[in-house]
Amino acid sequence: MQRPYNFSAGPAAIPEDVLQQAASEMLDWRGSGMSVMEMSHRGKEFISICEKAEADFRQLLAVPANFHILFMQGGGLAENAIVPLNLSQGGAVDFVVTGSWSQKSTKEAGKFCDAAVAASDEAQGFTHIPDAASWKLRSDARYVHICSNETINGVEFQQLPDLASLGSQAPLVIDFSSHVASRSVDWSRVGLAFGGAQKNLGPAGLTLVVVRDDLLGHAMAMCPSAFNYRLVADNQSMYNTPPTWGIYIAGLTFEWILRQQEGAASGVAALEARNIAKAELLYQAIDGSQLYENRVARDCRSRMNIPFFLKDETRNQAFLEGAKARGLLQLKGHKSVGGMRASIYNAMPMAGVQALVGYMQSFEKQS
Ligand SMILES: *Cc1c(COP(=O)(O)O)cnc(C)c1O
Repeated sequence: MQRPYNFSAGPAAIPEDVLQQAASEMLDWRGSGMSVMEMSHRGKEFISICEKAEADFRQLLAVPANFHILFMQGGGLAENAIVPLNLSQGGAVDFVVTGSWSQKSTKEAGKFCDAAVAASDEAQGFTHIPDAASWKLRSDARYVHICSNETINGVEFQQLPDLASLGSQAPLVIDFSSHVASRSVDWSRVGLAFGGAQKNLGPAGLTLVVVRDDLLGHAMAMCPSAFNYRLVADNQSMYNTPPTWGIYIAGLTFEWILRQQEGAASGVAALEARNIAKAELLYQAIDGSQLYENRVARDCRSRMNIPFFLKDETRNQAFLEGAKARGLLQLKGHKSVGGMRASIYNAMPMAGVQALVGYMQSFEKQS
């Protein structure tokens, strides 16, 4: 039986190989007599799972040795508070607002620090990334925050900003929840990256934080201990019970990523090549039609989350029903944007995008 194609923005599709491996190991993980869910996080079995997951993630995204990889809980939304609690010391923090998530981050951080908007595309409906030369960066900013892929609005930085070249000494913080491991990361431009696992890496409940060593140890006194990066790092993400199941599934996903091949490319580079091809196919189908449209500027269109509208909105319901009947699930757009959204993360095969494009074209002809 062929599984349907799941275009959910998150929690999202997980590679079938990963689900099958987890199913086969569900009752007895590799002769241990236990499910991973039943293991002590301090036992040798789980510690081996956790250490391998961390090492594989470091390898697949080429994370330099002076960055810590932390497995935490709370999701991307909790990081909107945890990052300022750890990095801001209550001082100035600048935000570039390119969509709903960076807007949320700004608001939450304002509870803990002097959060200011350095640039915003709200007036244009979050369809552009404001030119970096126009960003109002403060010289005393403790860090600059961007959301490198706006999941709801479908706006993605195709290159991370080089703050040093903009005259800023502040570290860059990126929320990469919805495109982590879909492309490489230029760590020379990043101080901290965070993301929930449930879009590209596994189940909900696990949050990844990648943080440069020199940024640890400055947490505000009010920062909860379980969210203090220094404590989490010093205890190898075991200061308190980590999300063990999430780490295990993410670890299987990392192994799956490392196995991927596309021509001469492997790992994240293979997925990136595939993600470019998938996104091009879908954007071409949208741009080439009379019925569908995407309003995001071409130079910052997301490869992962592709919102689109039917120019005749009275046909939205029929579009969704027809899609579901063909095994194309969860295409309804976010309520704040409307229309449709296809999330085509790493786990979405090219065949899924081809099936969607084929359906979109036949639906358009029916009118
Ligand atoms: C999903 C998402 C979040 C929120 O994650 P939660 O796990 O629900 O807290 C934050 N930022 C981005 C970019 C996201 O896509």
